[in-house]
Amino acid sequence: MIINGRTRPTAVIGWPIAQSLSPVMHNAAYESLGLNWACIPLGVPDNRALLAFTEAARALPFVGFNVTMPHKQAMLALCDETATLAQLAGAVNTVHCVDGQLIGYNTDGRGLLESLQTDAGFDPAGRSIAVIGAGGAAGAAVTACILARAGRITIVNRNAGRAESLLDRVRGSLRSIAAEALPLEPSAAGSVREADLIINATPVGMAADDPSPIPGEWMREGQLVYDMVYQRSGTALAEAAHSAGARAVTGLGMLVAQGALAIDIWMGDANGQTRAPRDVMRAAAAAELAGQAAATDGGSL
Ligand code: NAP
Repeated sequence: MIINGRTRPTAVIGWPIAQSLSPVMHNAAYESLGLNWACIPLGVPDNRALLAFTEAARALPFVGFNVTMPHKQAMLALCDETATLAQLAGAVNTVHCVDGQLIGYNTDGRGLLESLQTDAGFDPAGRSIAVIGAGGAAGAAVTACILARAGRITIVNRNAGRAESLLDRVRGSLRSIAAEALPLEPSAAGSVREADLIINATPVGMAADDPSPIPGEWMREGQLVYDMVYQRSGTALAEAAHSAGARAVTGLGMLVAQGALAIDIWMGDANGQTRAPRDVMRAAAAAELAGQAAATDGGSL
């Protein structure tokens, strides 16, 4: 990659940011597409820094930027316009900078759908889905399930009020989809066990010694368990899923797809002719992840 006077910046902002796979993944895509863009990681530790960065992004020639934890929800209010999917999810992970305006999107939900299809051959239409968590990633998962016309959505969260709030936010878009919000307690076991797909949208599993976010008895043969955690395979959730006879998939494909969809937005290709190269991005992300795991002698891929 050659950076010169015509290079346009993109960024990934969050805190902490050192382990982010986005810069290598994005820069590999730009190179493959022949785009004179460069993605830089920017550590944005707090709201003050987030405000300062968004003002800079309005004034400088940014193509756009990705937003990661913990700023996805705060970013929603800082955009000049937001896509309906981002409003429903309650979070913005992709911003397009257009004539000094910040246009907010959420590509996590569509990224999840793309990964479910590519990595698991799973179509949520008419199926029963349990989402564990009620934060930004869970909001994106729930909107994805609505978009894909799921049959039933169960939101299960440690803080039951937050699960209710998420359900309230999307209620008007559910149409014929059945939905419920439950606390992460034994009373949720039946609904989770009946689901065709369980999505872990909590960070539980990121640390090597994390337990499974749900008990093994809540899973069964024939189920698909999608773990949004992508930093490690062989999480306690994946192991419990395998023991129960379920199939487990890590969130790496979702990470790649949400990034690719962001690039698709920034390229503004209305015909959908030029798509970000998912295979190139996945190879770059997987190599970076393997390098990080080797360096820390910690997680595995
Ligand atoms: P968030 O907004 O902070 O929400 C976290 C959710 O996890 C909350 O519902 C929280 O419950 C729950 N939670 C946290 N710790 C828990 C614990 N020990 N036990 C049970 N529940 C717990 O975070 P987020 O942005 O939604 O991200 C969640 C995860 O998804 C992160 O690991 C992130 O890396 C991953 N993610 C992956 C992708 C991908 O592309 N693969 C994309 C987006 C996000 P309470 O409400 O009770 O606190």
